Amino acid sequence: MSSTTTVGQETQAAILEAEHWSAHNYKPLPVVLSKGEGCFVWDVDGNRYLDMLSAYSALNQGHRHPAILEALHEQAGRITLTSRAFHNDRMGPFLHALCEATGFEKALPMNTGAEAVETALKAARKWGYTVKGVPDGRAEIIACENNFHGRTTTIVGFSTEAQYRHGFGPFTPGFKIIPYGDSAALEDAITENTVGFLVEPIQGEGGVIVPPEGYLARCAEICAEHDVLLINDEIQTGLGRTGQLFCGDWDGTRGDILIVGKALGGGVYPVSGILADAEVMDVFTPGDHGSTFGGNPLGAAVGSASLRVILDERLSDRARELGDWFMERLRAIDSPHVEEIRGRGLMVGVVIRETSATARPFCEALMERGILAKETHHQVIRFAPPLVVTHEILEEALESIEPVVRGEGVELP
Ligand SMILES: *Cc1c(COP(=O)(O)O)cnc(C)c1O
Repeated sequence: MSSTTTVGQETQAAILEAEHWSAHNYKPLPVVLSKGEGCFVWDVDGNRYLDMLSAYSALNQGHRHPAILEALHEQAGRITLTSRAFHNDRMGPFLHALCEATGFEKALPMNTGAEAVETALKAARKWGYTVKGVPDGRAEIIACENNFHGRTTTIVGFSTEAQYRHGFGPFTPGFKIIPYGDSAALEDAITENTVGFLVEPIQGEGGVIVPPEGYLARCAEICAEHDVLLINDEIQTGLGRTGQLFCGDWDGTRGDILIVGKALGGGVYPVSGILADAEVMDVFTPGDHGSTFGGNPLGAAVGSASLRVILDERLSDRARELGDWFMERLRAIDSPHVEEIRGRGLMVGVVIRETSATARPFCEALMERGILAKETHHQVIRFAPPLVVTHEILEEALESIEPVVRGEGVELP
């Protein structure tokens, strides 16, 4: 990993083709990947990299985990899609396992994270009208500044990131924004029409923002007092990433609605869903909500295997132990460019001082040394390797990370 990678003709040609034919809604690092295994990926020119993004934590189990691939292949040889017009023999066992692992009574399967968030919003609103007794059309949902919950028109409507909204209005009404990490602001914002509080236990896309100690626990208390649903978006923080099965476990709460996605598909297939107890989930009646692919047998088989790997391999414990040690090592780096190191488990942010540069040139320098990380929120280098990473692999990675964080080989403005 310490050897410098070389970009060859294969890479140039592949980038030109993709850039020509694709919409330009992303600005990827200039690397073209064609193979992955465990924590490592290879580009079309044969260079090896340590994947420290893990597809935004969708790859907690690593690339092509054998148990997940086996479930995929086995199921692909039987039946892959039924639609929910019929039952299939995989969805039940999957949702059963998911409920047992999370402690909720019911699950509703979807595919992508944004769909699961939309499902949670619909559940909260319908619960508000049918259970809480909010007058028709008046339900309010509170969300936080600097949130990230996905990219649908409803969800970007309550984003506070100008670029996510600009040009995409008009937006869905019924959302209110409060500062993140401020439980008093939540209490002040609640009215008799508030049905839910949508929150990430750590803001991932927002720059690995860790709220004050006990924040989620206090929010859960406030929500309970005011008959408001705590909607806990653990799409990124869940399934072991922060050193507990769910990040909310640090605060002793998983919320009233738990949203899961990303690593639930083990990096091979989109699988998401929401979990809740019957009081909330029973608001859905046949025809209220649906998805052609949600709960399909291939996704259910992959989801079951993905969850089993997280639990059997105790990946949460691994994230906690390795994360504590890794963050300690990062904090020991003496660099004029670093403002702060923050995170939990193996969700770690290195905040670059605005007076130095953005995080982008640091990520480019890391790439040249065989480490793939991606800047988030301009100033933050996010380190979130697959949770199957080892002490030795991270030790070797630090040999490249330390000089780059000190500014070596970084193109500063
Ligand atoms: C990634 C993410 C989403 C959206 O998931 P998609 O699968 O990209 O739609 C929602 N919430 C959080 C916290 C996320 O990190």
